[in-house]
Amino acid sequence: MLENLSSQLEKYLPPPVLALAKIAGREAGEMEQKIYLVGGVVRDLFLGRANFDFDLVVEGDAISLAQRLARDSQAKLTIHSHFGTAKINYPGFSLDLATARSETYSKPGALPTVKPGDLKDDLIRRDFSINAMALHLNPQRFGELIDLYHGKDDLEHRLIRILHPNSFIDDATRILRAIRYEQRLGFTLEAETEKLLRRDVTMLDTISGDRIRHELELILKEDKPELVLWRAGELGVLHQLHPSLKSNGWLSQKFEQARQSYKQTSLPSLYLCLLIHNLTDKENEEFISRLNFPKNSAQAMRQTLQLRVKLHRLANPRLKPSDIYQSLHSYATTAIQANALASESPIASQHLQLYLTRLRYVKTLVNGEDLKKMGIPAGPRIGEILSALHKARLNGEVKTRRDEEELGYSLSKASAPPLPSDKKSNIKRQNDKSKVKKGRFQ
Ligand code: ATP
Ligand code: MG
Repeated sequence: MLENLSSQLEKYLPPPVLALAKIAGREAGEMEQKIYLVGGVVRDLFLGRANFDFDLVVEGDAISLAQRLARDSQAKLTIHSHFGTAKINYPGFSLDLATARSETYSKPGALPTVKPGDLKDDLIRRDFSINAMALHLNPQRFGELIDLYHGKDDLEHRLIRILHPNSFIDDATRILRAIRYEQRLGFTLEAETEKLLRRDVTMLDTISGDRIRHELELILKEDKPELVLWRAGELGVLHQLHPSLKSNGWLSQKFEQARQSYKQTSLPSLYLCLLIHNLTDKENEEFISRLNFPKNSAQAMRQTLQLRVKLHRLANPRLKPSDIYQSLHSYATTAIQANALASESPIASQHLQLYLTRLRYVKTLVNGEDLKKMGIPAGPRIGEILSALHKARLNGEVKTRRDEEELGYSLSKASAPPLPSDKKSNIKRQNDKSKVKKGRFQ
């Protein structure tokens, strides 16, 4: 018997989306087309989980229907005519409309060849049964469930199941997607699906770096990515991305601590730096180029390893705040956060934390203009004085603006410029050497 979910749909969809779904159904009917709500949103309706991705499939022409809908509601429309898709942006949400299509894969890992098809074609090209359900939106059939691959049964049995045995060969990104859904939902890979996944894990090599990276980014945006990485480790998936990547109790613990310590938006890049924290420079470079990481991420990853080898210097309890600042100010925040979590030295961690929470924000109260107004001539000396003031402020040696002005003034009167500590020690060492030499030849 056909199952109708109209009353669940009425409760689940936010009112403006429900109203638009009904209008879309009516207009599709008037154009003698059929329209369906598909994919993740149907899955999440059954699970009672929020989902704000409203994907609609049209048997017919999604673009002309989207044009009509957008015109009536005066919403912003973006069309991709090549793909037969359109996005309509409303305040607070958007609708994605796609013309139903069939896909064939010329070779493993290649992007599919696409041609118009019907709903059945559109559903079989999908990744898992739980993502391959559709709800009719045309008025006479509003809310009717189309579940050709028994997705609802699999939801009830909490299973992730592919739709045909070659699924992972056609598109190995599904390997990463499978474990992401499995761990997000607390499901299990269906036995045959798991067997095929293990068989086809090497197919990940057929996928471009950009596509793998995109899937890894999705994993790192999950609430608990360590679960997905742990499973990826167990199934040999991590090893396939790079043989040196490991997921273990240490990593899980660090991810958990990261969530307690840092804000949510910074977590995915921080997780990434923790994931590569134990790689060698060479392994890290291999991983960066395999996944084609963009400059910013690659820089944070490299700096994570560079800082790791310098960490012992930060484990000295006698360091002054200005020394800590000097050691860290050129590093990416993520690299510092990753090392603060990963360091085995509580003192080094405290110093990194001090930098992150306080030292990096310390600014002098006077600026170059103020110094000039005090009569100090423009030139490199101003920069030197400002950096000496900054150092003094970091170390708590000046408190008020008045303190800074006085110090600035006295430094400007002093004959020798204040020297950074390392230069000082170099000169001292040179003097020492010259003393020795002198001593020898005297
Ligand atoms: P999420 O909650 O993670 O966004 P979703 O189901 O909405 O889940 P999307 O990545 O937004 O997932 O993709 C939308 C739909 O497109 C999926 O439900 C699935 O049916 C289909 N899909 C996405 N990627 C693939 C793929 N690699 N192979 C087959 N179908 C896919
Ligand atoms: Mg989605």
